[in-house]
Amino acid sequence: MDFSLSEELIAFRDLARDFAEKEIAPKLAEDDKAHRFRRELVEKMGELGFFGCLIPEEYGGNEAGFLASVIMCEEVGKVSAAHTLPFNMQAHGPAYTLLRWGTEEQKRKYIPALVEGKLIGGFAITEADTGSDVASMKTVAKKDGDYYILNGSKMWISNAHVADCMLVYAKTDPAAGARGISCFIVDANTPGYSARAIEDKLGIHCAPTGEIIFEDCRIPKEALVGQEGEGFKICMWQLDNTRLSCAARALGVAAACLKAAVQYANERTQFGQPIGRFQMIQDEIAQMAVEEEAARFLVYRAAWQKDRDPNVRNTKEVSMAKYYAAEVAVKAANEAMKIYGSYGYSEEYPVARYLRDAKSFQVVEGTSNIQKMIIAGSVLGYRK
Ligand SMILES: Cc1cc2nc3c(=O)[nH]c(=O)nc-3n(C[C@H](O)[C@H](O)[C@H](O)COP(=O)(O)OP(=O)(O)OC[C@H]3O[C@@H](n4cnc5c(N)ncnc54)[C@H](O)[C@@H]3O)c2cc1C
Repeated sequence: MDFSLSEELIAFRDLARDFAEKEIAPKLAEDDKAHRFRRELVEKMGELGFFGCLIPEEYGGNEAGFLASVIMCEEVGKVSAAHTLPFNMQAHGPAYTLLRWGTEEQKRKYIPALVEGKLIGGFAITEADTGSDVASMKTVAKKDGDYYILNGSKMWISNAHVADCMLVYAKTDPAAGARGISCFIVDANTPGYSARAIEDKLGIHCAPTGEIIFEDCRIPKEALVGQEGEGFKICMWQLDNTRLSCAARALGVAAACLKAAVQYANERTQFGQPIGRFQMIQDEIAQMAVEEEAARFLVYRAAWQKDRDPNVRNTKEVSMAKYYAAEVAVKAANEAMKIYGSYGYSEEYPVARYLRDAKSFQVVEGTSNIQKMIIAGSVLGYRK
């Protein structure tokens, strides 16, 4: 198997690297400190085609594929994990889900604008009392003539208070468990939709997170995505895609940690020599290097499988990539912190941010435990 990237993939990679280094990096420390989200960066990423890789040209995409998308995600992640969030909130989440499950009207209304970064998107599954146990969600969508009326709330939702539209999962038949969930595309300016920011979170400060409250939020019946009761199926399908870019984001952080650790290990001298000469530091560097490469293979393999056959459900491989990349990112950040000694504990270097940001990957899009449940269930033959 040839592991070298095509010229096209190299061009996408370089484009993303260039953008991250020139447009994100210069103000990153300041923005991270201020918890600042820059909408204009999402628009610029959209203009450059960052969100079009999974989308056909007729809806504004470039059809470059999953591998191109995860490579771009990884490159941006090497600079800032927070700024990779739009890959999921624009492309892998709402746009790609509407492409597969939406009506023609929904596709035309939302996909090009999401791809261009003109509409800010998101997806709302989690609630205050229900995270991993998606089927137990309590938000309801009650049919009322030509409308559905949404009531309930969603918690820990990326882009909650800055989004223009949101994929919302809610119960249309609360007694039916997972089969009672439906999916909707909801405009955030609909009366009855309100949101507040969660200001105090550990990391990914430039990526907004918040709570959405639905109070008699009346949405047209045309907002239904797929059929009534298909929401759980759509949600799991969506997670197969958004988890993969999440894995790529984590991979970017792991790579950034290794690079920072190598640089510091060569610069910092103690006992008359660079600390990189000490065997224990070499042990840490060796593990980080191997684990980063291994995570990359898992991420690229899952993306490659999807490009080979877009209808393939490679849930196990995606969960392997997501689980491993998230764990590796946290471990790499932890090791980098150790290598930096006191300076790792300061904000003078980015490694403290890497650790704060990396921790999110063990939680979002299904925790590491949930990924292990999926992997083990598949390996043991318990999952259909
Ligand atoms: C920064 C951030 C952004 C997010 N963005 C979004 C978003 O855009 N949209 C969205 O819908 N959600 C979002 N989330 C929510 C995230 O997906 C959930 O937090 C996650 O799914 C876990 O849910 P929970 O926090 O309720 O944990 P719980 O489900 O309560 O889990 C608590 C602990 O129990 C473990 N656990 C649970 N069930 C089992 C089990 N069966 N076996 C073993 N262990 C188990 C978990 O692994 C975890 O360690 C975001 C979260 C964060 C932190």
